[in-house]
Amino acid sequence: MNGKPKIGVYVCHCGTNIAGTVNVEEVRDFAASLPDVVVARNYSYMCSDPGQALITEDIKNYGLNRVVVASCSPRMHEPTFRKTLESGGLNPFYLEMANIREQCSWVHEDPIAATEKAKRLLEAAVVKARNLEALEQKEVDVEPSCLIIGGGIAGIQAALDIADAGFKVYLVEKSPTIGGHMAQLDKTFPTLDCSACILTPKMVDVANHPNIELMTYSQVEEITGYIGNFNVKVRKKARFVDMDKCTGCGDCAEACRLAGRIPNEFDEGIGMRGAIYLPFPQAVPAKYTIDKENCLFLAKGKCGETPKCQEVCQAGAINFEQQDEIVEFKVGTIIVATGYDVFDARKKPEYGYGIYDNVLTALEFERLVNASGPTGGKIVMLERGKKKKKKEEEAEAPKVPKSITFIQCVGSRDKSVGNEYCSRVCCMYTAKLAHLVKDKIPDCEVTIFYMDVRAFGKGFEEFYDRVRREGVRYIRGNPSEIFRRGDKLVVKAEDTLTATPLEHETDMVVLSVGLVPRSDNREIIDILKLSQSSDLFYLEAHPKLRPVDTASDGIFLAGVCQGPKDIPDAVAQAKGAASAAMIPMAKGKVKVEAQTSVVNEETCRGCGFCVELCPFTAIELVEVNRQGWPVKVARVNEALCKGCGACVAACLSGSIQQRSFKDNQLLPQIKVLGVK
Ligand SMILES: Cc1cc2nc3c(=O)[nH]c(=O)nc-3n(C[C@H](O)[C@H](O)[C@H](O)COP(=O)(O)OP(=O)(O)OC[C@H]3O[C@@H](n4cnc5c(N)ncnc54)[C@H](O)[C@@H]3O)c2cc1C
Repeated sequence: MNGKPKIGVYVCHCGTNIAGTVNVEEVRDFAASLPDVVVARNYSYMCSDPGQALITEDIKNYGLNRVVVASCSPRMHEPTFRKTLESGGLNPFYLEMANIREQCSWVHEDPIAATEKAKRLLEAAVVKARNLEALEQKEVDVEPSCLIIGGGIAGIQAALDIADAGFKVYLVEKSPTIGGHMAQLDKTFPTLDCSACILTPKMVDVANHPNIELMTYSQVEEITGYIGNFNVKVRKKARFVDMDKCTGCGDCAEACRLAGRIPNEFDEGIGMRGAIYLPFPQAVPAKYTIDKENCLFLAKGKCGETPKCQEVCQAGAINFEQQDEIVEFKVGTIIVATGYDVFDARKKPEYGYGIYDNVLTALEFERLVNASGPTGGKIVMLERGKKKKKKEEEAEAPKVPKSITFIQCVGSRDKSVGNEYCSRVCCMYTAKLAHLVKDKIPDCEVTIFYMDVRAFGKGFEEFYDRVRREGVRYIRGNPSEIFRRGDKLVVKAEDTLTATPLEHETDMVVLSVGLVPRSDNREIIDILKLSQSSDLFYLEAHPKLRPVDTASDGIFLAGVCQGPKDIPDAVAQAKGAASAAMIPMAKGKVKVEAQTSVVNEETCRGCGFCVELCPFTAIELVEVNRQGWPVKVARVNEALCKGCGACVAACLSGSIQQRSFKDNQLLPQIKVLGVK
């Protein structure tokens, strides 16, 4: 746009958020006195319909060609006001915002100083606005397919919703089966639904859905591209079992020389498996996998003349020659649903986990209490590491505990282990497990040590009351130590309600471990350039308004990978992520970032710093002809560039500029702010 700038300035009160500290009328009058400002107004909520109408009316009546809004952070409402400019007939990039809320009224108490600062921020926005340029927002086509990483309940729900809507889904799961942690649970709080009964039908639906391509025992290796056009490379790890031939009969697992000798991860090591295994009977797909680290034939080359599994497999499915396979495909959107790990209880050595056989984590206890678990749901004392007696009749019947004690908040709300957050599920799963103990062993004495009970969800408080009525004893106190006295475990604590130190004897201790980010989260962070919040879970774009989006367009989050939550919340978030991912796929086109970097190829030295630095792999070195000589220069792929500005700051020759943040736009701002 040519001609003299005609700037309209709009100062928002944000209720009392800004007006409670900043004198908005004074800021408006100051704005009106600035060169090129033709109108200045203040209003209680500028983002509201009447607030936006003030702007669109002024654009028409005063012929405004630049707009400055002094309000909240642009992260909050820049898209809102850009749309306002568009509806007033102005290029949306003629907007500049002054953040006088987060960067002023919220962080200052002195009204006079805050008002002065608001004026400076506003003036800086006005001088920048003078030199703003119109930008064109390009559109790219969107591939109507979605990659979902992680096949827990969140990934499963998102996959089914998207596939039901008619889009293609690629569901990539690292382990040999989908189901995630929910598959390990017995009952679920507070309704006590059987976890398998509500989960396994969904697992089967995923496997049978014509729009879902399920890749288990697989890992995403590389993703390039941008919203609408992501190129994905997946490694399908060799199972050494032909999936088309395997009938899931299980003869191989029974025949394996190591049957019952390798701790089964699915049973948290309480149950055992062989080197060829199905994690659990309802696994999807119901196909066996050979664990190559443990298989005698694959790891050591010796398992008799013919490996037993191969000998007994009628279908001829065992294939020791099988190799990993790399598959490549294109998707328009991505949902990350990689879930969580439980807190490693060894990091609290005072609780004796890993030392005493009958100090268990809650997830181990879930397997112990589970009807399809290693003990068939019988709660018995564990003798870990002891070799199984060969003959059934030689083995003593396992003892049933007479008392079980739960300790809550192990690895949650605990600064000493670096986890300040509440894991949100432990209070309720502890109550659930306590109820299951009372259900199975009515005369068992059940005690729970707690800090506070957080029963915030639907039906939670009622469930907590029910468990107490069933005779479960709650003691408020954070135990300091667990040690052995004779054949009993002793929990040393203080009852903080009566200020009494106590030693509580028990047969078994269950540690209610918190939910922590997966130890291998880095893999996905490196591939997708995701950000993490301070607790190291993946960071959403906005905690309230964009809880399923990430900072990268087209990449969404679902389930516990974003933060601790229970199954209903994980499912709700998965449905949210699915609907967010379907919007660009349904539209078929998407707008890409307009405030991208541009290289002046005449002055670029081709050093390549920017190429290495770009987190979005948006820059490459290309050969051009400069006065008859071939030289390398940087070139930006505008569809990939997210406008982060890292390349601009790093460019040694000052050859890269970012649209809307060019030198002639930023330097006057710096001058006004008096930054030396
Ligand atoms: C002891 C215990 C008891 C609980 N009891 C209840 C209860 O009764 N009720 C309730 O509502 N909630 C309960 N919860 C919480 C519940 O487990 C979670 O809310 C739920 O499992 C979250 O599902 P998710 O899909 O987000 O994650 P997960 O279940 O962890 O699933 C994530 C999946 O992603 C896969 N994955 C990870 N990384 C990758 C990768 N890079 N590539 C491919 N795949 C990957 C994993 O293998 C896994 O299959 C309990 C939790 C615990 C610890």
